[in-house]
Amino acid sequence: MNILLLGSGGRESAFAWKLSQSPKCEQLFIAPGNAGTGQYGTNLNVKVTDFEGIKQAVLNNKVNLVLVGPEEPLVKGIHDFFLADNELKDIPVIGPQREGAQLEGSKDFSKQFMARNNIPAAASRTFTRDTLQEGFEYLATIGLPIVLKADGLAAGKGVLICLTVQEAQQELKEMLTEAKFGEASSKVVVEQFLQGIELSVFVLTDGNNYKVLPSAKDYKRIGEGDTGLNTGGMGSVSPVPFANEEFLQKVEQRVIIPTINGLKQEGIPYKGFIFIGLMNCGGDPYMIEYNCRMGDPETESVVMRIETDLVDLLQGVAEGNLDEKELIISNKVAATVVMVAGGYPGEYLKNKTITGIENVRDSQVFHAGTYLDGEEIKTSGGRVLAITSLQDDMFTALQQATADASRIYYDGMYFRKDIGFDLL
Ligand code: AMP
Repeated sequence: MNILLLGSGGRESAFAWKLSQSPKCEQLFIAPGNAGTGQYGTNLNVKVTDFEGIKQAVLNNKVNLVLVGPEEPLVKGIHDFFLADNELKDIPVIGPQREGAQLEGSKDFSKQFMARNNIPAAASRTFTRDTLQEGFEYLATIGLPIVLKADGLAAGKGVLICLTVQEAQQELKEMLTEAKFGEASSKVVVEQFLQGIELSVFVLTDGNNYKVLPSAKDYKRIGEGDTGLNTGGMGSVSPVPFANEEFLQKVEQRVIIPTINGLKQEGIPYKGFIFIGLMNCGGDPYMIEYNCRMGDPETESVVMRIETDLVDLLQGVAEGNLDEKELIISNKVAATVVMVAGGYPGEYLKNKTITGIENVRDSQVFHAGTYLDGEEIKTSGGRVLAITSLQDDMFTALQQATADASRIYYDGMYFRKDIGFDLL
């Protein structure tokens, strides 16, 4: 079959790498892709939110299946767009329709969904401009620190952790009355702080059956020792040692099954990935968030551990027979080190020539913010490359990915040298 993959990050490079290995994948197209995805298929110069452009790309290239990488087209209804179009309606899209994508697109929706389906999560309430006063009263009752979340998509920036009630009041006021995060903060979820260790669990579902993919831990802060500003993600490791069999059983019983059943009972169709962000609080899982797609840079580590054919699994999602498909997960450990541009996550350097990729010894180099300028590979984004190594044990995987990252050079290059070492 011909497959179109939407997106241009490290996640999409990892997907493209895996999809292109399938005997079922005849032609792979990536829109818009990057300098790396071009190794595995054909990049198309179409934006992920240009639905008409995507339609033309699908028809021109006789695409039989679309995999959506990022959340934005899903929240904006790419899947609904396909279903409503006579020429596209029979072409399966992997990724939920607009309603299911609300699990990520609206924190208020997802909190209410968790509550209705008895899924363990932090206590919370949602406020608007009209209920600001009630919000102030609630802030004084839930204990410190206080978590404030803009309801809508805010490019990963909409969550604030406030250490005092005064700070929380000020921020809540700015979010609701001064549109601190634009339209995304016209509603704000005020939430209790969960103490514990974070991890992510990924589920692939056809809306009825599901497969639990490898768990992963990501590293969000720019600085070593988890210090400094938040980023899109500086690295990841899979599996997560503290997510043992017993803990994952709890996740399946308390979170995954109620989520799939809840979607079914509420009549929300869902074909795609569900990213479950969890806090392990003393051995019990509590929900932090859902995402309606895979994570980046978790995908890079997760995909390396999937031994079975990903196209076969996606076909199972499309056809509703995922239960008949086999998922084999490697016992090896995957570690990903993200290389970023100088200045990131603030204003960052661009158009720097990348050298040394050919010196990498035992890792996959997944491109993120890169482009081809003639023969040269140059940087274009904040997150530039993701270096993923799959090895028999965690120490070797971490060491190899880190060593291989240091074999690559561009002006201003930076990566964390401590990814995963807290887990050893
Ligand atoms: P989210 O966008 O919901 O993933 O939130 C971003 C980050 O904020 C998460 O990855 C957590 O590290 C942190 N966070 C969110 N909610 C909570 C909570 N209730 N307690 C503690 N930390 C949280």
